[in-house]
Order: sequence, then C-alpha cells, then structure tokens
Amino acid sequence: MWVMKVLEVIKRGTEYLENKGVESPRLQMELLLAHILNMPRLELYLNYDKEIDERKLAACRESVKRRADREPLQRLLGVTAFCGLEIKLTPDVLIPRPETEFLAELAWDFLTDLESKADSTLMALDWGTGSGCIALAIANHTNNTFVTGIDVSPGAIKTAAGNALELNLQDKTRFLVSDGFNDIPDSSKFDLIVANPPYIRSDEIENLPAEVRDHDPIQALDGGSDGLDFIRRLAGEAGDFLKPGGCLMSEIGHGQSEDVISLFTAHGWSVAPVKADLCGIPRYLTAGFTQGTPQPGSD
Ligand code: GLN
Repeated sequence: MWVMKVLEVIKRGTEYLENKGVESPRLQMELLLAHILNMPRLELYLNYDKEIDERKLAACRESVKRRADREPLQRLLGVTAFCGLEIKLTPDVLIPRPETEFLAELAWDFLTDLESKADSTLMALDWGTGSGCIALAIANHTNNTFVTGIDVSPGAIKTAAGNALELNLQDKTRFLVSDGFNDIPDSSKFDLIVANPPYIRSDEIENLPAEVRDHDPIQALDGGSDGLDFIRRLAGEAGDFLKPGGCLMSEIGHGQSEDVISLFTAHGWSVAPVKADLCGIPRYLTAGFTQGTPQPGSD
C-alpha cells in the first residue's frame, strides 16, 4: 500500500495551496490534515514521521483540491468556532464571522445587566439566525434569558436547532422559520432584538472573494440595491416587538452607518453612537424605541 509521512503531506499540500494563491497555506494545510487524522493541530508536530494510509491520503488530496478551488476551510471542516462554541455548518448557513462575536458580546452584556434588575426570564430574539451562532452564544452567556432564533430558511433553522442540541442549549433556545417578523405573533415582546442581517449591496456580490460569493448562501449576504433592505425592515417593524426599555442591536456594513442612523431616527428610534469593529469600521448599531411613527390605519 502507498503511504506518505505527515511532514511530507504538509509540505506538498502547502506548496500546492501556495501555488494556487491560497492565503496562509501552511496553517490551512495543517488544519485540514489534523481534521482528517482526527487530532489537534499541534499534535501533528509530534507525529511528523507517522505514516498516512492511502484512504486518508485520498481524503486529503480531495480537501486540498477543494480548498485550492476556494471552498472555505470552515466548510471543509464542517465546523467553526464562535464565542468559544463549536458551531456546525451546512450549506444553508453563513459562516459566522469573527466581527459578529463582538455583537453577541454586546448582546449578552446588555442582557446580563438587565437580568440583575429583572424578576422574570428575559426574552431575546436573534433575527436571521443562520447557524444560530448569536442566539447560542447569548444563551450560553446569560443565566435567565430565553432566546428565539428566526430565519426565513428552513435549512438554516434545522442547522441552528441541531447546534442547540449539540451544545445542550435546547432548553434556553428555540428556532422558528419566519420571514422577518411576518410569522411572529404580534403579542411577542422581547427585551432585546439582535440581528446580523444581509447587508451587502446586490451589485457588490460579484466582487466578493470566491470563498464568500460561491459558498455562503446568497440569501444571507444580499441586502438589495443599497444593502439596506433588511435594516429598513428592522427600523420599520422591530419597535412593535420590543418591551419598554428594550433594545435593538444590529451589525451593519462598511459605510452604512450614516444612512442607518437616519433611517432609525426617522422611525422614532433613539440611536446610540455606532460602535466600531477592530478595524475601526462603524459596525454595531444600538437603538432603543422611543416613540414609534404611527402607521397609516393604526391608532
Ligand atoms: N446570524 C447569523 C450570523 O451572524 C447569520 C447571519 C446571516 O445569515 N446574514 O452568522
């Protein structure tokens, strides 16, 4: 049987990925191989002389080729880390991004503070939950909050509910298919609504890196002609689903903060200064609903 040693596979795979222009080729190669050999990456260093059998070599070759074709590493591994949780991925969900971890943190900080003043279980809503990452991180970091995750995609809801079970957070969360607020009863009120909505302009999609453009669900990316379709829905509809003193938090796109602030202000929200991400880009909107603009036909 044909075999190769760990170090040799790492070297050859790294060279292949490098030639194909993949960033951090050695790290990517090590993570792929560690996954296939089912060992932590650092253990590879203790096993450089270990022989890899033909079957595993074939799996490795296949993964390296797919990575060279710009399939994201997380999709090949089938998992990613988010706020310390292992989140399983399916083709139906966006790969959780590192900058979204800060949104989740803002959310659980707000809820933890509110929990200390509340005498009953708090209710949070993760609007467009995808893999469930934000909802699950919140559930994991709060003591007395129940989190509902909604998404228009049944595949995403299945993935999120599966993640909740895997992480043993199923008693603190539930996941429902809903197109925005359309399928949420009017009587549901939340202490916090959090969202990482699709916010890329439709005409920008084709310029995204292939890893994103060809492998994240388009539904999870495309925010319409100005990127603000879903932000607009949140500004117009979320106020009706907030408890008094409740808060809305949303991640927003690069360069959108002024438009987003005007939109929310026009709908009667009071908007806090938009917080920046680690690159200094205004990224996290926090707003409270103060007055609400009466809609035609409502009293
Ligand atoms: N809430 C999920 C996330 O933050 C999905 C977001 C989306 O699909 N736009 O990763």
